[in-house]
Amino acid sequence: MSQNTHKFSLTTRIFIGMLAGIIIGVLLQLVFDDSGDLRFTIFGSTFSTYSILVEGIFSTLGQIFIASLKMLVVPLVFVSLVCGVSSLTDPSKLGRLGVKSIGLYIFTTAIAISLAIGMGLLVQPGAGVPMTSDASFVAKEAPSLSQVFINMFPTNPINAMAEGKMLQIIIFAVLFGVSMAMCGDAGQRVASFFEDLNSVIMKLVTIIMNLAPYGVFVLMAKLFSTIGPDMLGSLAKYFFLVLFVLILHGLVTYSLLLKGLTGLSPKMMFIKMRDAIQFAFTTSSSSATLPVTMETAQNKLGIGKSVSSFTLPLGSTINMDGTAIMQGVATVFIAQVYGVDLSVSDYMMVVLTATLASVGTAGVPGVGLIMLAMVLQQVNLPIDGIALIIGVDRLLDMTRTAVNITGDCTVACIIAKSEKELDETCYNDIDAGKKEEELNLDTASKNA
Ligand code: ASP
Repeated sequence: MSQNTHKFSLTTRIFIGMLAGIIIGVLLQLVFDDSGDLRFTIFGSTFSTYSILVEGIFSTLGQIFIASLKMLVVPLVFVSLVCGVSSLTDPSKLGRLGVKSIGLYIFTTAIAISLAIGMGLLVQPGAGVPMTSDASFVAKEAPSLSQVFINMFPTNPINAMAEGKMLQIIIFAVLFGVSMAMCGDAGQRVASFFEDLNSVIMKLVTIIMNLAPYGVFVLMAKLFSTIGPDMLGSLAKYFFLVLFVLILHGLVTYSLLLKGLTGLSPKMMFIKMRDAIQFAFTTSSSSATLPVTMETAQNKLGIGKSVSSFTLPLGSTINMDGTAIMQGVATVFIAQVYGVDLSVSDYMMVVLTATLASVGTAGVPGVGLIMLAMVLQQVNLPIDGIALIIGVDRLLDMTRTAVNITGDCTVACIIAKSEKELDETCYNDIDAGKKEEELNLDTASKNA
């Protein structure tokens, strides 16, 4: 018999975990300042309670939680994409999916960056900010455009999986799935094995999602025990402007696009995406959040597997609207701080390079800031400017990752609707997918 043993839904439990983590983190910071730390000595060694809690327990458990999410990404993307592609009855659909996804991703990113630059010019976040910075930033070399394309093709698929190279995995999975569909009976047998494998991996996603309330608790407790409001300093205007544009784009642009292009209710999409948004916010990684984004898309939003398994992994790799927004505001900010006047063609260059930079940004924490170097270089702004904003980037990274994955899901909904791959009854059912999400241990023990 299946029964829900929890009083609150998973979404509420994750939210409580997040809030409790933030409160504990802030309290730890207040209580355990330098003079308040409880130190004790065992066998001649002195230990600090604060370090044991924060650097020891919270940090270790938090990293284990993120590792468990990342562990699922490669098998999930490969298996579900192979299933999705092999189930496509019309081969030309694959090409259409590719063109639509890439087109829409680039389009939404271009809107995001234009919005960011426009708001940056209007609000002038860099006016009056001193240029001095004791930190310095050493930029890594950004790959050339042709290298980006060459790197999409795997020379060794096993190596691509071992290194988690998403675009290479996508290309291999698509080719594998297409051949499987063309292989008659043999293909059918392999396909049913992959279908079963997919169900097992999705169950593993459910298990890890059910541990999320604890995972997000330790991640937030660790983060908020180290950062405080004083980090904002003269960067408050920059920080809140990025935040504002992120929220504006996340709520308004996506709602307009979804409503305008499909007639679907944006509110429903946001409600159903709550878990995924909380995961993105706490892990700061679109890639680590991918298993949850895919679960949401398939079970709650009713997006068909052939669309979701292709569009979402691609989006988590190439579609970073939130990152582009940070890069747009940051470029304007750095130009203002250094007193550089950028021309209209410079800004157009920024739109172009930030869109490409967002394609090249991996879905892991902090990479958006590294790719900002590429944008700054294009318009001859000092790369050292990145050092100015590094201090507030952690919190912005959390928020922009949430926007990044919301963009992926919006595009997936639009494409699914246009390809008739959207189960609208599921989309409009507020309770859809909740049963799959609850871990039913009864079944597990019965099957054992
Ligand atoms: N953390 C972001 C993501 O995973 C990437 C970035 O902007 O640094 O989506």
